[in-house]
Amino acid sequence: MLELLRRFGSTLRPYRTPMVTGGVMVLVVAAIELALPWPLKVVVDDVLQQRAPDGLLAALLGPLADSPTAVLAACALALVALAALVALGTYLSSRLLQGVGERIIADLRTDIFAHLQRLSLAFHDRQRVGDLASRLTGDVAAIQALLVAAFSTLLPNLALLVGIVVVAVFIQPVFAVLLLCVAPALYAVVRHYRGAIKQASREARTHEGRVSSHVTETLSTIRLVQSFAAERRGLERFRTHSQARLDAGLRQVDLQSRLPAAVEVIAQAGRAAVLFVGATLVLRGQLSLGVLLVLLAYLQQVYAPMKALARLSSTISKAQAAAERIDDVLHSTAVISERPGAAPAPPLHGDIELRRVSFAYEPGGPVLHDVSLHARPGQVVALAGPTGAGKSTIASLVPRLYDVTAGEVLLDGQDVRDLTLRSVRSQIAVVPQDPLMISGTVLDNIAYGAPHASRDQLLAAAHAAYVDEFADRLPHGYDTQVAEGGASLSGGQRQRIAIARALAADTPIVVLDEPTSGLDAISESYVMRGLARLTAGRTVLVIAHRLTTLRDADQVYVIEHGCVVDAGTHAELSARAGQYRDMTDILVAP
Ligand code: ADP
Repeated sequence: MLELLRRFGSTLRPYRTPMVTGGVMVLVVAAIELALPWPLKVVVDDVLQQRAPDGLLAALLGPLADSPTAVLAACALALVALAALVALGTYLSSRLLQGVGERIIADLRTDIFAHLQRLSLAFHDRQRVGDLASRLTGDVAAIQALLVAAFSTLLPNLALLVGIVVVAVFIQPVFAVLLLCVAPALYAVVRHYRGAIKQASREARTHEGRVSSHVTETLSTIRLVQSFAAERRGLERFRTHSQARLDAGLRQVDLQSRLPAAVEVIAQAGRAAVLFVGATLVLRGQLSLGVLLVLLAYLQQVYAPMKALARLSSTISKAQAAAERIDDVLHSTAVISERPGAAPAPPLHGDIELRRVSFAYEPGGPVLHDVSLHARPGQVVALAGPTGAGKSTIASLVPRLYDVTAGEVLLDGQDVRDLTLRSVRSQIAVVPQDPLMISGTVLDNIAYGAPHASRDQLLAAAHAAYVDEFADRLPHGYDTQVAEGGASLSGGQRQRIAIARALAADTPIVVLDEPTSGLDAISESYVMRGLARLTAGRTVLVIAHRLTTLRDADQVYVIEHGCVVDAGTHAELSARAGQYRDMTDILVAP
């Protein structure tokens, strides 16, 4: 529990006041519960054995103390009143505390989601979507179960236990000693099982993450799965993960079932001891029968909380395992962070410079070495080179999707790390080779980069990008829903939507991964014309795959093995023998 408090302290802090109020209410309820068996004592000792009440009780009852019926009635009334108070207090405290629990969980979920979105691509490259998603669902649910248990079981039962021991000390210290003897035995048993349950539960959660990520992966590549008839392979892998999850789950169930059984045996032994000692004291006249009954009633109350607490240990173990997984995400520092004092970028002219940039996705695996390149405002700068040379990597450094390992990326002469992320990224439009679509309408997709644009502005962008040409044929035009991932659209259509998206965003800088072949001639011509409109008047960094693009570029950088091996205009580069001429010789101008 303390560990959890430490981990999620900042999430809990705003709820200190209601939690303290709820805690105090729980203590009050425990105190009233302690009073519950006392009317029974009065009935047995004073009414049944016909002794007039003395001391405090006599003072309370006044002249009624002499009438056994009146005492009996007062006891019965007291029982009902106490029970009603307990019920009311439990209701109020449980509503308050469980409500706080719900709010804490909602906050936690939002924190995780917000952080997941901020975590850099370097983090996401190494994670599986399903596994991350299961932290927001399953793991958060485990923490929620703990909070519910803490507020409804742990706190009230602990308060009651402490209260009972304190009262027992006043009645007969020997009973407090007996109660306290049982505690270490229970603690030892619970501790033994807890470690094992926690281990099994951690394994179960890990396997559950694997099951979940296998499902997400399969469903997101279902087209690939079905076209290669790979369903059986997929199912076998699913069964393996699922079996591992089942094994860990069964181990956990077994351990969880043994624990209460062991606790029950210890509890009965304690009960027998109290009965033995208590009855002996009554026989010797050192204890009244009524008080023995109160003690036995307390015993009933003592073991229920202890068993509940023991059961709770598995909830705690599960929550601990979940907390570790959530913590991994929440405290992962793999964020692209802004330097202290980073200022919003002013409207950019579009000057892009990479100065002696080196970069590695993984430590020790350098992908770019000492890359320098420069695009002046309004220029089209092309990157050429074989697959795997590092062109896309260079392109992703400009909107700062990754941070350089050495060197600098400058926009209008300012290091991107000195500018706020949002201000940089909002001035760069990226058109990837295979554009991503969100689920929503065609127009929603175009509006993604320009959420505040009017419908007319979006339609103008769509028109300029030749989206009109196919949107008119869609069942609801621009309001047609795009299937998740854009599966209902062709590659060329997705390209045109992405171009319209960039046009609508109207940024001074465009980073473009030119579509390779794969588009039919008509589609390609629309895409290329749309691109021509997009690039006009902006600084463009383009990963070029076509001869015409290279010819029209103001400057071409030839990239090989993560290095700039040559640079110049197409004419200059073609004039000299080298990689560029070999490479472009095989490209045929369309
Ligand atoms: P190009 O765009 O020229 O084809 P890339 O920039 O995509 O080349 O890739 C350059 C190198 O970086 C390749 O060796 C590739 O395997 C590696 N790489 C690309 N993306 C990642 C990534 N997200 N994580 C690790 N390595 C990557």
